[in-house]
Order: sequence, then C-alpha cells, then structure tokens
Amino acid sequence: MNTKLTYGAKLRPHFYIESLGCSKNTVDSTGIAVLLQRHGYLPTTEPEQAEVLIVNTCGFIAAARAESLEILSELSAARRPEQKIIAAGCWAQREPDYLLELLPGLDAAIGTRSWPALPALLDLLRTRQERLIYTEDGPMVLPEAVGVPGYAFNSEVSAFLKIADGCSRRCAFCAIPLIKGPQVSRSIEAIVADAQQLQEQGVLEINLVAQDTTYYGHDLGMQDGLAVLLERLVTALPELPWIRLLYAYPGYLTPRLLAVLAAHPQLLSYIDIPLQHAHPAVLRRMRRPDDMAEVRRTLAELRRLLPEVCLRTTFVVGFPGETDEEFETLLQFVDEIQFDRVGVFTYSAEAGTPAADYPDDIPKQVKDERLEALMLKQQAISLAKNQALIGKELSVLLEGAGDGFTVGRSYRDAPEIDGLVLLPGELPLKRIVQVRITEALVYDLEGVLGGDN
Ligand code: SF4
Repeated sequence: MNTKLTYGAKLRPHFYIESLGCSKNTVDSTGIAVLLQRHGYLPTTEPEQAEVLIVNTCGFIAAARAESLEILSELSAARRPEQKIIAAGCWAQREPDYLLELLPGLDAAIGTRSWPALPALLDLLRTRQERLIYTEDGPMVLPEAVGVPGYAFNSEVSAFLKIADGCSRRCAFCAIPLIKGPQVSRSIEAIVADAQQLQEQGVLEINLVAQDTTYYGHDLGMQDGLAVLLERLVTALPELPWIRLLYAYPGYLTPRLLAVLAAHPQLLSYIDIPLQHAHPAVLRRMRRPDDMAEVRRTLAELRRLLPEVCLRTTFVVGFPGETDEEFETLLQFVDEIQFDRVGVFTYSAEAGTPAADYPDDIPKQVKDERLEALMLKQQAISLAKNQALIGKELSVLLEGAGDGFTVGRSYRDAPEIDGLVLLPGELPLKRIVQVRITEALVYDLEGVLGGDN
C-alpha cells in the first residue's frame, strides 16, 4: 500500500506559487493553491522541486511591477526545460503581451479575473508548444463560485478575509478599476461561513479586506451593507476576539456604520481611511471626495464614538499640478488631525488612467522632498503617540518568537502595514495577552506582560 501511494505521488506534478502585492492577491493565491490541489497538483515551497511555477503578480504601480519582474526573471533564469512558468494576477491582466515579450522564459499569462481557468490552461500547456495568454474582461470571480476559501492566513492566528473585489470608483490616478473591473461583493452567508471556518482553525483576528470596504453590498442592492455585515459577523462569531476593517473609502462611513463599530468591542477601534490628499482642488483633480469639512466631521465623530481609535490614512504627493501651497495644506492637515499612522506614496502616471493625460509636471526631486517632509512630520506625531502609551496596558496578539523575544501586535497594528509589540523572552504564542508598554519607538513598542495574565 505504501509503495502504491509513493508511486502515485511521484506522478503528480508539484506547483510553487509566489504571491506579490496586496492581501486580496494573497487570498486569490490561496484559492489557486486549493484549486490546483483539487486537480491533482501537489504544493511545494521549493521552486526547484516544482513542475509548475506561478507568480501572482501585482500591477498597481511601477514599483510593484518591478518586483514582479524581478521574481519572474529569477525563476526564468533558473528554469529547467520541463518546468512551466506562469504569470498570473493584476499585471498579467493588464499587460499580458508585454510580459511574454519581456520574458522569453514565460510560458503563459493569465489575468486576475481568470485565475479559475488555471488548471485548464496548464492542461493546454502540456499538450501544446505555443505560449498562451488568457484574460477575460468580466467581473472578478468570487471564491464561492469556484468552491475555494475567500481567505488567506497571515499567521496561524490571523487571516485576511475578502468581502468584495474590484472597484466602482474612478479615482483619476488609479489603475485598479481597469485591472479588476467594478466591485462585486460576496454574500453575507459566504463571508460568515468563511469566518466560521477560520475560527474553527484557531484564528483570533480576522481582517476584512476589499478594494473599498465601505462600498460593500452596494452592488447587491444593500443599504448600509457593511454595517449589516459587521452585525451579522459579531452575532455569528461571539467568541472571535478581533475583527478589523481595512480600506474604508471616505464618504461612506455612515452613522449606522459608526454606531455598529462603537457598539461591539470585537470590532477593533482601528480605521484605515485612505484620504489621498487634503486640498480640495487636488482632490477634485484626483476625482475623489473633496468636502474636507465632511472629512473633518467624520474623523471627529469617530474619535467621539471610539475614544481610543487608531486612525490610519494614505496620501499621494506630487500629483500633477500640486502646488507648494496645496502641499502645505496637506502638511497642516496632518498636523491638525494627528493621525496615528500615515502611508505616503509619490505619484506615478499609470497608463490608461485619467491622470495619465495630465502633464506629470512635478519633478521627481520635489516629489521625493515632499514625501520626506510628510513622513518626517508624521514620524514625530507617531512617536509622541507611542510615547503616550508608556505605562498603559494593551491587548496584544502573540504571533511569533525567536532570538529571546516574542513578537505581537496590538489593536493599533494591522498585519503587514503597521508596527509590532516586542516582549522579552519567548512566550507561548497564539493568544491575546495584556502587555504593559515600557518603551516606544516611531513604529514599534516594547512591553512586558501586564498584571492580568
Ligand atoms: S477607491 Fe481605491 S482602488 Fe478604487 S479607484 Fe480609488 S484608489 Fe483605486
């Protein structure tokens, strides 16, 4: 019996998958892995052991494409003749011909809207010699349509759960709607079922992701869809300690949504609202909500209802036509609001977007100087906020240990983008403990176990 099993396993091809870019892509990569295993492929973490090498690319901005290219080039350079290399994901959706032209070692490109067709594509590659492109223009395929999970683990106790994909906004600088098409929301039942599976697997933190979480349910005809979804999640999973909301587009943080966030301690006091700029004229050029009075009202209301809220945002500097005065307005706004976390990007023109038609007239050096000025301002704010936590206790999810330290995150730290909490000693993991903060850095905190553990 053993011999037969070994023999069978040897006949089955192995696949290796490298996932780049955002958490939505990671969820798709998990779906691809489940699908391939269902079709008889075996996973491996070693590229040299795989017959099929897949890079789930990111094509959002130039830096992301450069990373995807580097990985694909490395795999192509080391490939054996019998191996197949496939570019999947957003860049493959956007520029499949260019990718095949760029990389002679690439066998196929399959778009992010078409990943369920990957097993069929691999069948074709086995029997045909030519290189293949497969992209579709329909909406993003939801995981339940393929019977795969809509989540991906970030650690053994933390996961990203996709609630929707695609984007129905038309921000002038952004290629996502071109790549992924309009937003499609998953049903509440499918999301709750995935969340229950995660809880059964020991997950303590679920991070809800979409391109735009506050738009959840609009395409399903729901009013206040995100608020309804959150209520269903906390009702169905009363034991799940942490639910975190990411990518909340401004303008749709409705009174009901804020009330739901305030009513349930399971819903973490953490909001990521990508504002992109603070000067109304720049926001208009970006085709984003430009009512800064409304933004200020929403942020004040959030802080009133959730006094401990951790506010994260993202800004783009060097957008076409951004004057010194407009940038100064942004700096003053950051000073005024005192965000807990700020991410900053320099503008780069993306082909096919409305902003690509504007002259990209801010010199690179000025863009870089503005990025540095904004980051420096925020670093001082972040440090002061972290220093104010010294002596206080925070709930911390313990996820990793090594070199005499234990690494965790508090409710203030979203996975992969925010800081860490470091504790001396290698403590038992996969639990949430009270930590007394003893040291503060710009991004990270240090602490010791608090009194209640
Ligand atoms: S809301 Fe976000 S993903 Fe959608 S177009 Fe705007 S920047 Fe892009």
